[in-house]
Amino acid sequence: MSKYIDRVVKELQAKHPTEPEFLQTVEEVYSSIAPVVDAHPEYEKAALLERMAEPERVIEFRVTWVDDKGKVNVNTGYRVQFNGACGPYKGGLRFAPSVNLSVVKFLGFEQTFKDALTTLPMGGAKGGSDFDPNGKSDAEVMRFCQAFMTELYRHIGPDIDVPAGDVGVGAREIGYLYGQYRRLRGAFENGVITGKGLSFGGSLIRPEATGFGATYYLQSVLEHEGDTLEGKTVAIAGFGNVAWGAITKLTELGAKVLYMSGPDGYVYDPDGISTKKKINYLLEMRASGHNKVEDYAKKFKVKFVKGKKPWGEKVDIMMPCATQNDVDMEEAKKIAKNKIKYYIEVANMPTTNDALQFLLKQKGMIVAPSKAVNAGGVLVSGLEMCQNSERLAWTAEEVDAKLHQVMKKIHDDSAAAAERYGLGYNLVAGANIVGFQKVADAMMAQGIF
Ligand code: GLU
Repeated sequence: MSKYIDRVVKELQAKHPTEPEFLQTVEEVYSSIAPVVDAHPEYEKAALLERMAEPERVIEFRVTWVDDKGKVNVNTGYRVQFNGACGPYKGGLRFAPSVNLSVVKFLGFEQTFKDALTTLPMGGAKGGSDFDPNGKSDAEVMRFCQAFMTELYRHIGPDIDVPAGDVGVGAREIGYLYGQYRRLRGAFENGVITGKGLSFGGSLIRPEATGFGATYYLQSVLEHEGDTLEGKTVAIAGFGNVAWGAITKLTELGAKVLYMSGPDGYVYDPDGISTKKKINYLLEMRASGHNKVEDYAKKFKVKFVKGKKPWGEKVDIMMPCATQNDVDMEEAKKIAKNKIKYYIEVANMPTTNDALQFLLKQKGMIVAPSKAVNAGGVLVSGLEMCQNSERLAWTAEEVDAKLHQVMKKIHDDSAAAAERYGLGYNLVAGANIVGFQKVADAMMAQGIF
């Protein structure tokens, strides 16, 4: 690591001891861009790394809502507008009990580089609340979303900050959030939020985008290895929107998803999660709010392994699509022992830093980083913003073709950047370098502030 990076990371550790997830992601990104930072001594003079690790703005607010029994509930809402150098702040909202400032800052920092990778003009942001939508009635979710937006609306706008969904925020929540924004603003500014329903400016392929994009990226990796998806076996973590999109596309392209996990354990389906009926059932599982993958095992009479993750199983491809730090050192050792060839991160930061470094050292294993692999979601959000500005709706084929083309470009540019700095086929470093360089160029050009 360059001395400058080392110093900045140490200063951040001293300054933010209560923000482990945030420190983890800064360390992960900064430790892989040393060759770029060493080649640009002017960055240190401009305190570029210090500025990049400080959000432009953090908004924290009270969200008060009344549940069906008449009880008054209080949650905390957040929006971290991390970096606006490349475009309007852009990134999702996460509703989950695990949400806190450290998590939102980590996601906002990651988002900045991910959005830069998409090639579209978008800055990085993230937000959310410690509200848990699981087990809440429709009316409660609506009241919560309305209360949340009543505070947030004054900070966002189609050219200012454009939220979207993330864990716990899907089409239903986006509808309620946009409705409240429209009511408060008194204007149909639908470019203010993405992931909308098709009847009010949503984009075709947006629900599928993250999972499809991840699969297209994986295709580029396989192509690089002279390989294809045909007949490959896959283990996936999660059964939410991202996993659903990935399973749909992987199956279409000839792969077989044998394992899928949830917070309660994992399932093994020897025939693959491959029929329309099975894949559609994932949507039902999500809508039910149970948050249990065991429901799948019961429905299709397959094996359920309670309280465990599928990382000890032998497959060709592993795709953690659930949440952060799903794969730690213990899980990584199992993955290495089984000689898994393709480790494709899909969820945001699903691997702890020590596990990631360990996996990167495994001979014959290819590791792909989430900020590149899952960029298809926010990319199609960017395309939704384009359509909203044009007041036009593109066809599914147009959106899908653009998604495919950009995912390939992200892979190819990352591979080329790593190669250029003598790092070989290191997709993790390559993605960090490409994302960082774009944000760095924009910040350096815009002066010191
Ligand atoms: N939450 C998604 C992400 O992590 C999508 C964000 C967006 O569409 O703005 O990239």
